[in-house]
Amino acid sequence: MKIESKHKCPYCGFTYKSEPGRNLFAHVLAEPEANAAVHSVIRVCPHMECGKAEIFVDAGTFPAALRGKTEDERQNIGYDLPGTHFRARLLPPYGGKPELKAQEVPETIYRDYDEACRLLPVSTGASVTMARRCVQKMIRAKFRLTPGKLQNEISTLAKLSPPVRQEVIDALVAVRKTGRLKALPDDEIKIVGDVSHEAAAQAISIIEILINDWFVAPAEHNDRLVALQLILNKKSSEK
Ligand SMILES: [Zn+2]
Repeated sequence: MKIESKHKCPYCGFTYKSEPGRNLFAHVLAEPEANAAVHSVIRVCPHMECGKAEIFVDAGTFPAALRGKTEDERQNIGYDLPGTHFRARLLPPYGGKPELKAQEVPETIYRDYDEACRLLPVSTGASVTMARRCVQKMIRAKFRLTPGKLQNEISTLAKLSPPVRQEVIDALVAVRKTGRLKALPDDEIKIVGDVSHEAAAQAISIIEILINDWFVAPAEHNDRLVALQLILNKKSSEK
């Protein structure tokens, strides 16, 4: 897996610089005879009050770059294993971000988003299918549209007043296209075409931003308005 030099702790939100041997530990188990490799990474949050660990695992084919290298030389921190067929964060358990499981986020939307996250390491196609379904539920919940085809629902958003911003429309179109089902000839079963890990992960990132923007942030804004009102009421009763 790629190792970014700056990392945000999912437990406490603290952002820190990756320091191999101090807060970042990586190990490669690679077997050329079996054409297989596993790359495991442990991160430990350096924030005093946190100190929690994250564990990531990549499994793939034996990387050509490691051929002829000794066991010690293989222990580099960042590897992108070729033909990766499993890539996941094991701890905290992979799934949706807990901070998005808020009261104001409809439960069925969080469930689909969480499912899309859990499916990502094992099936990108299944993950984007779930992501697409989630986006459709989000649009209906947020804008109270009459259910129809996702494509039509997205174009309706541009005609609303005020219209939904173009950046958001583009992001929704991206999720719709990635998760588009392809009908097979002579068959009623529909499947999602080949989807890269990056594209599936991107669909999840888009959902996370929109859940925040559409459900969490407006509720927080309302809370602040209530707080303002309380201050004003207090002032007027003091007069
Ligand atoms: Zn932390």
